[in-house]
Amino acid sequence: MADNLEGGCACGAVRYRLTSAPMFVHCCHCLDCQCQTGSAFVINAMIETDRIELLQGAPEPVGLPTDSGRPHDVYRCPRCQTAVWSDYGGRPFLRFVRVGTLDDPSALEPDVHIYTRTKLAWVGLPAGVPAFEVFYDRDALWPAESKDRLRKAAGG
Ligand SMILES: [Zn+2]
Ligand SMILES: [Zn+2]
Repeated sequence: MADNLEGGCACGAVRYRLTSAPMFVHCCHCLDCQCQTGSAFVINAMIETDRIELLQGAPEPVGLPTDSGRPHDVYRCPRCQTAVWSDYGGRPFLRFVRVGTLDDPSALEPDVHIYTRTKLAWVGLPAGVPAFEVFYDRDALWPAESKDRLRKAAGG
């Protein structure tokens, strides 16, 4: 794994560092993610909120509508509005960091592709990485260590 997991927004006002590897990395091809990024998919690194060290700036939450009706706050640089991470489901202990905001976006690769039912037809998926039409079973896919981390972060 790359040891430099620093990143930030486009204008430089927000800078952060991940103090460890994430628990799991989603590549999401759903329509919401396509719309919100203006792109083919989003890459989200799931990590405990307390493992994000804010080096500079203060991202501000913006609430977004979701299909599921669960809350989704996306945290943006107050100046340039780059989205750096999300809180899906109103879980303050957990963040979905946008891997494209890392200084080296190639440092983290998706562990799973989800919502491939709306994947753009020209996007090819790598062999050997699990892919699901909709969502997946966390128990089946996550490494034991990551499941432990999530449980602890959730206070269980
Ligand atoms: Zn900015
Ligand atoms: Zn999505």
